[in-house]
Amino acid sequence: MKLESFEFITKSENRARLFLKKACWKNALIFCTRCNSRKVYRIIGKRYRCKRCRYTFHDFSKRWLWIIKLFELELSASKIAQQVGLSYPTVLRAVTIIRLAILASKETEIFLGGEIEIDESYFGGRKKGKRGRGAARKVPVFGILERNGVVKVNIVSDVTAESLLNMTVRTVRRGSIVYTDKFRSYDALMFCGYRHIKINHSKQFASGKVYINGLEGFWSYAKERLIKFHGVSGEKFPLYLKEMEFRYNNRHGNIFNLMVHNLCNLVPNRL
Ligand SMILES: [Zn+2]
Repeated sequence: MKLESFEFITKSENRARLFLKKACWKNALIFCTRCNSRKVYRIIGKRYRCKRCRYTFHDFSKRWLWIIKLFELELSASKIAQQVGLSYPTVLRAVTIIRLAILASKETEIFLGGEIEIDESYFGGRKKGKRGRGAARKVPVFGILERNGVVKVNIVSDVTAESLLNMTVRTVRRGSIVYTDKFRSYDALMFCGYRHIKINHSKQFASGKVYINGLEGFWSYAKERLIKFHGVSGEKFPLYLKEMEFRYNNRHGNIFNLMVHNLCNLVPNRL
């Protein structure tokens, strides 16, 4: 969303709420910022109180839009807190809700097909040590990319043929052309209904269509961004990973509106 339109919808609390109302159809999106319950009622001084946990808060619409906007621009929770004048824990809760909404979005449920790149990569583990496959303390992430389409990434417990094939058959249409490197776990792809083409990194690099540069582009995109969160806890890592997937897949789209939409879908489920 351009700043001009953003300025318009955040001019007043009313306009902000109207925008959210419209974006969320019938849902006014006023909910408790502590427990996410929508069972809130108005009290004096344009404030609301949560029926469930008794938390009292101001209309949050305008600030929500600001938080979403600054999150879109990739500011950290502490920077957002400074900018919108809320406490760090409140903003951290808000951005966690945004990330949960991204994780819950249905966007990732589609099947991929055509020309596919498959590869794994390792995240985290700041300590120096073994690199690459089997590296200690690192989290293996499995990636599937449709050329000229979207990327899907998932954390895997290991990189055995079984794990990788499982994910592939659940994500990629049979009959697709699948490009991988020479890692042996991919050898069985040809028995699963795919045309499997292997790349030998040492001999030919990006020769003709035989490459996995699309996916390598995503790995560096995600890792570059995750560096600033160094020390993302293992338990929060899936949220950050899905955020990277979402940002990458929508890098030419309207991320702000998509995030509002995802939030609207998430909140009613939390009643
Ligand atoms: Zn509450």
